[in-house]
Amino acid sequence: MKSEIANLKSEIFSLPVMEHFYTIQGEGYHQGKAAYFIRLGGCDVGCVWCDVKESWDAEKHPKYEIGNLKAEVLKTPAEIVVITGGEPLMHNLEELTKELQAAGLKTNIETSGAHPLSGSWDWICLSPKKFKAPLPEIIPLANELKIVVFNKSDFDWAEKNAALVRPNCELFLQPEWSKVKEMTPSIIEYVKYNPKWKVSLQIHKYMNIP
Ligand code: SF4
Repeated sequence: MKSEIANLKSEIFSLPVMEHFYTIQGEGYHQGKAAYFIRLGGCDVGCVWCDVKESWDAEKHPKYEIGNLKAEVLKTPAEIVVITGGEPLMHNLEELTKELQAAGLKTNIETSGAHPLSGSWDWICLSPKKFKAPLPEIIPLANELKIVVFNKSDFDWAEKNAALVRPNCELFLQPEWSKVKEMTPSIIEYVKYNPKWKVSLQIHKYMNIP
């Protein structure tokens, strides 16, 4: 019993971190704003085009105490912390977000929505993936819906999800990086004819920053 409690505590108070860094949010609604990124290890969604496959195995990433992570963030002038992955909701994020918000920081998450929501969020960016669909209860909580467009069938996937978000949810179509030349013209045309959507480009990749 004692060891089970110790394990549970360790899962809540420490998290596998692949990388953490202060940079500029390159995509979506908060594009262009300074933000501290915490990329957690672990993902079971399995996108074929994933550009962070090294994040998938949580065991490969060192566990960080939440207090130490917070201290790293507070060494910077960051106002926003983006929790990403991997799929960050594979972990219990209650304690992390409680600590960050107590320090006056805004908590933003980028998630596929494939696991139950935990944590307290100032902004939820839902980026649902066909490879493992989002949980229905998460979709109406999204502040932002960001669809990665790899091929033209992703426009149908985008509309299917947009029909389920709340009315004021921000809608973005973003070309998958390896298909940026091929898909950007289609996205531009799609947005021109469907102006509820906006284009999201990964500007951090153009600026050569993490
Ligand atoms: S959800 Fe994100 S981290 Fe997971 S496989 Fe898809 S792109 Fe990669």
